[in-house]
Amino acid sequence: MFQHSEKSQLLLAKLKTFMDEHIYPNETAYAEQLHRAENRFAPLPLMDELKEKAKAAGLWNLFVPEDHAQYCEHGGLSFFDYAPLAEEMGRVIWAPEVFNCNAPDTGNMEVFMNYATQAQQDKWLKPLLAGEIRSSYAMTEPQVASSDATNIQLEIKKDGDEWVLNGRKWFITGAMYERTKIFIVMGKSDPQNPSRHLQQTQVLVPKDTPGITLIRPLTTLGYDDAPIGHAEIVFDNVRVPLENVLLGEGRGFEIAQGRLGPGRMHHCMRLIGSAQRSLELACKRAASRTTFGRTLSKHQSVREEISKSFSEIEMARLLVLRTSHKIDEEGVAASVDMIAATKTTVPLLVQTVIDRCMQMHGAGGLTEDYFMAEAFNYARWCRQADGPDQVHQMALGKKIIDRYADQ
Ligand SMILES: Cc1cc2nc3c(=O)[nH]c(=O)nc-3n(C[C@H](O)[C@H](O)[C@H](O)COP(=O)(O)OP(=O)(O)OC[C@H]3O[C@@H](n4cnc5c(N)ncnc54)[C@H](O)[C@@H]3O)c2cc1C
Repeated sequence: MFQHSEKSQLLLAKLKTFMDEHIYPNETAYAEQLHRAENRFAPLPLMDELKEKAKAAGLWNLFVPEDHAQYCEHGGLSFFDYAPLAEEMGRVIWAPEVFNCNAPDTGNMEVFMNYATQAQQDKWLKPLLAGEIRSSYAMTEPQVASSDATNIQLEIKKDGDEWVLNGRKWFITGAMYERTKIFIVMGKSDPQNPSRHLQQTQVLVPKDTPGITLIRPLTTLGYDDAPIGHAEIVFDNVRVPLENVLLGEGRGFEIAQGRLGPGRMHHCMRLIGSAQRSLELACKRAASRTTFGRTLSKHQSVREEISKSFSEIEMARLLVLRTSHKIDEEGVAASVDMIAATKTTVPLLVQTVIDRCMQMHGAGGLTEDYFMAEAFNYARWCRQADGPDQVHQMALGKKIIDRYADQ
């Protein structure tokens, strides 16, 4: 089970070399370009240079699964084989975009692969796969508890040969980014339908459609995650043609269910990389700082913290691999138990590991001079994005009780 294919191993070796040659040496330059940018949500020249290099190196669209091999040059990878690659990318928060493997675009591209018509794919999926444009997935709303997707209120009404959208969304990742051109918007088209799961529809809305206003960029723990960012958006009589519907009227909930499983796993894979890098930095720090006559590394409590962190990263990695293997063998639908177990365990474990490593770096660990603060923010928000932990625990708990109660 723990042997990755030769293809995955070769790609990982190439990716590690690429990270050493092009990503780590550019971390300072990237931060400087972002700090100097007049518009924090404009594409950075460095990102474009690195994307070209990644394409040339054959490290492009690595997220594309085997059953969608026709959409990439490398022939697709199993979940299990993609896990170590996503982990490697997670060692630098902005690195996944270099390889066209960042959220939310990977999840959105999979929506286009699974549910879009040929015409919709030609118009949006092709430039997304080429990294020319970016996309957003707009579901969450400020005025309702959106962890219950049946609550959402944005109105989608038919008027002649158009859909008309009215409502407000927030925390829409990528919407601020200048390169983002298309929103996948979920709203209610049939609020009176007796089935709460057939009331929703998803439509494709070009970002420049009249009636769309980007209200503000949002931050989490002070981070704006620019240039991709998260936005609050108002839709005021936004009109798109009927053919912009995805899959069909009333099928929005079904798409939402299908989209979020793989995306949750990808976050967990990347987070393992963020934790592993934090641990490595903490070990270097512990070996090089001295308090009370000896290096930090010689204090018992520091060794305990390092040992706990190492063990927890190993646990988290094994869980990700176990779930990935199950998805490959049995599919996403049959793996929802393991996906929920992973989604509710890994971000919290990683957050704790990163917190310990931050502490060992003293005051500096809390600043942007080091990797940990931004990585901590990433782990923390992954406990909320794609549904809060409690909702997944509610569903998983029920499933497990049902499984064993009558035995
Ligand atoms: C950085 C970031 C990026 C995001 N990106 C996107 C995006 O691109 N597109 C998008 O549509 N959304 C996005 N989200 C939003 C995210 O999916 C929602 O925040 C999440 O689904 C929860 O919805 P809510 O914020 O309305 O919380 P609410 O539904 O109001 O829930 C609040 C809290 O109630 C508790 N709770 C809820 N249900 C239960 C329960 N059954 N049992 C016990 N406790 C419960 C939980 O503690 C939960 O955190 C993003 C969020 C963040 C932080």
